[in-house]
Amino acid sequence: MRKFSDEEIAEMYENFPSPETWDNWIEYDPKAWPKKVKKTYQIVPTTCFNCESACGLTAFIEKETQEVKKFEGNPHHPGSRGRNCAKGPATINQIKDPDRILFPLKRKGKRGDGEWERVTWDEVLDTLSTRIRKAIKEDRHNEVAYHVGRPGHEKFMNWILQGWGIDGHNSHTNICSSGARFGYNIWYGYDRPSPDHANAQFILLVSAHLESGHYFNPHAQRIIEGKMKGAKLATMDPRLSNTASMSDYWLPTYPGTEAAVLLAMAVIILKEGLYNREYLENWTNWKEYLEARHPKKKVTFENYISSMIEEYKEFTPEFAEKESGVKASTIIEIAREIGKAGERFASHNWRAAGASNLGGWCVARCLHFLTVLTGAVGTKGGTSPNSWNKFSPTQPNPPEPHKKWNELHFPREYPLAFFEMSQLLPHFLKEGRGKMDVYFTRVFNPVWTYPDGFTWIEQLTDEDKFGVHAALTPTWNETAFYADFVLPMGLASERHDINSYATHGGTWVAFRQPVLREAARRNGNPVEYTYQANPGEVWEEDEFWIELSWRIDPDGSMGIRKHFESPYRPGEKITIEEYYQYIFERVNGLPEAAKADGFTGPFAELNYMQKYGAYEIEQGESYKVNETLLTEQQLEGSTIDKKTDVVYKEGKAIGVLIKGKAVVGFPTPSRKNEFYSQTMVDWKWPEYAIPQYIKSHIHSDHLDKSKGEYVLVPTFRLPTLIHTRSGNAKWLVEISNRNPIWMHPEDAAKWGFKTGDLVKMNTDIGYFIDKVWVTQSMKPGVVACSHHIGRWRRTQDKIGNRWATNTVNIENDGQGKWHMNTLSGIQPFESEDSDSKRIFWKDGGVHQNITHAVHPDPISGMHCWHQRVRIEKPGPNENYGDIVVDTNKSHEIYKEWLSMTRPAPGPNGERRPLWFKRAFTPDKIEGGCYFISDTN
Ligand code: SF4
Repeated sequence: MRKFSDEEIAEMYENFPSPETWDNWIEYDPKAWPKKVKKTYQIVPTTCFNCESACGLTAFIEKETQEVKKFEGNPHHPGSRGRNCAKGPATINQIKDPDRILFPLKRKGKRGDGEWERVTWDEVLDTLSTRIRKAIKEDRHNEVAYHVGRPGHEKFMNWILQGWGIDGHNSHTNICSSGARFGYNIWYGYDRPSPDHANAQFILLVSAHLESGHYFNPHAQRIIEGKMKGAKLATMDPRLSNTASMSDYWLPTYPGTEAAVLLAMAVIILKEGLYNREYLENWTNWKEYLEARHPKKKVTFENYISSMIEEYKEFTPEFAEKESGVKASTIIEIAREIGKAGERFASHNWRAAGASNLGGWCVARCLHFLTVLTGAVGTKGGTSPNSWNKFSPTQPNPPEPHKKWNELHFPREYPLAFFEMSQLLPHFLKEGRGKMDVYFTRVFNPVWTYPDGFTWIEQLTDEDKFGVHAALTPTWNETAFYADFVLPMGLASERHDINSYATHGGTWVAFRQPVLREAARRNGNPVEYTYQANPGEVWEEDEFWIELSWRIDPDGSMGIRKHFESPYRPGEKITIEEYYQYIFERVNGLPEAAKADGFTGPFAELNYMQKYGAYEIEQGESYKVNETLLTEQQLEGSTIDKKTDVVYKEGKAIGVLIKGKAVVGFPTPSRKNEFYSQTMVDWKWPEYAIPQYIKSHIHSDHLDKSKGEYVLVPTFRLPTLIHTRSGNAKWLVEISNRNPIWMHPEDAAKWGFKTGDLVKMNTDIGYFIDKVWVTQSMKPGVVACSHHIGRWRRTQDKIGNRWATNTVNIENDGQGKWHMNTLSGIQPFESEDSDSKRIFWKDGGVHQNITHAVHPDPISGMHCWHQRVRIEKPGPNENYGDIVVDTNKSHEIYKEWLSMTRPAPGPNGERRPLWFKRAFTPDKIEGGCYFISDTN
């Protein structure tokens, strides 16, 4: 590949209009060709909302009509650098989707009947605030919850929910990334990696991070940049993804065996002396390890190395080959490449294997083991903790941590669960552990994205379980059908958020803004609320939550309102401009940049962000942050533990002595990478005190091939789609609209399948009928199905994502047996978008997740996505798209997995290790909600 020089890259950026022209940019109208008709645009930056990366976008708004005409990248965004994947520019489809929800709606008739009426935002706010106020006053805090699918706006909801004093946050993370998070966290107190791909010498990806993984476009461009500079790329994935096809090494591991392969690599690095001695000696807790596990041995570094080799003697390349199917010689070769790369070894595991297997968290733990062995933690070209490359905002009037603990989110059975046990909520409600009085879903569609969607439907339609359900969503989804209020929230170009993600070795902050509101402001017609500038009455969460909070506590007597008062105008309600100005004026370097750009006045920093949409806080100086010296001020009044060298102040570990210098270290009890975890021992899992390999629930030992049992990999992404929110983007659905079962020709031959044949996939709780796609891109013995397709609506749901939804019939016998069948596929329809008549694709795929039982990992809490399936040919009356589920069986399986847990309390009556982070951390005072007592 040719390497582009910095000058050449700068020249490419120059082709984009310079910001000085953004208020008056002239282009020829492409539709008027061959005539040369000039159109004048305002260009307003924002950020993409179609995945977490928050790449920069620029909206081209026709000046005359104030209509958004297209989206392009924003070259001033340091993460995406002007580039986007297909989903970025497709934002234009979403905002112009003829099926989008334009006004707040309230259900008519029974919940789920599909009848809706338009209501005002005032009615919505009054209804919800009255109910929430009553719940809080009656000390029913646990009955108010906000359940989020696509998060956004950094720390905003902490501000809101902690302002209300409730433990009300529930997330989708346990069906997404908490496995990997647990694996990283147990090592070094950070739960996400930030690989510096562009400067790496060797890159190991567990999953398809280049084409469809986390931080997709920002990572993809840097992986390719690294390759252009000579880095080698290896991808571990049972599927020949686009990423695997671009790699130097494809490692099609049998699903769930990745940790065994990684441990075999670790042993090679140890045995061949390819490890970084200095790093291991200084930055791992090896003395603690030897004392705890090998008390008879002398505490010497040599004994550390030899003990590790002994611990892992089973993990030979041959054993790893037997487990995974990847050749021993390849494993050895890659281990040596990693050893050779040393500090320039970048790696990433996010969803994929970490999110799919019983013990999937061990994949990230064993991957980080390689990073530790090579000393590539936080180095240039290595892998940093993501917090080192992420901006965290300072908010006005911050609330105290809440004093409640919601066991519907963090139950005692899962004390180490890294995030809320959200996938179990309907089962908790089913068995009477509590109820939800006011339940918000935010860009969240569990009926479709979660396993066991019919149990969600059963619970969502029960008004004793869910008092009121408000769905905050930019588009119709299968869960919103079962709401009481459907509240239209803005897409990327219709809302405020701030974003900052660890896309590379550097730190940035970006500003998502409603572009028509910003254009109106620039044109001298400012609006008070975002819905006044957006299409219809589409609003945004930021203003919605501030208004709601204010109405919950109108006179301030509940102590809630004070958090949402202006920091500049005491006693007045904070405005959205004030909220963001407060944050931006505290960003390092931004006030100076704003001044240099000519911005003055009370909103100078906000105005800078409104103009450019992003600001680069630092460009790559954030390596080896663990070596930062503690300041004299920090050290004042501190003590040093003579045995461990940990520096304590006011009872808290604040650093560690390394080579005689007091440095900050890592946020673990030892302030180092914890090869040995006393936490695992203390919390009743001593067998996992050091990195281990756990055989997955779908390990070949657990499958009966003679009965047609296979492992189904249901987790892979299509790079052009994003869960629920691409169903309203016609360009994206046109590209990807089917989800057949990937099957290797050898397996297809065994069954007599050819491409397009129907296949019945029996799961533990039912089945779905799909089509076969015969492809050599699948590892033999494993089958796969993308989770992005199979969207549906019922006949009573008149419209919604018609580019992507099948029309289905759902029947329920009231005894837990559910049956769904497809009445029609995707069809052309009449609308103001003439393309809707031209739909040529018919096959909307099949909804597979609804046939999966919940499989919560007993340690990390992560849903283990891989399924044991029994493959067979469908019977004569069974058709494509048929789905059958028994929710009684799913509840039994929930109980089976629940029985594998080892519940709290841990040491001192703790519910959860105090050093583990929580997204919304409650008060940790002794005897408080963090500790189980007779009274809580
Ligand atoms: S990677 Fe694609 S979908 Fe994700 S934020 Fe960037 S442009 Fe949007």
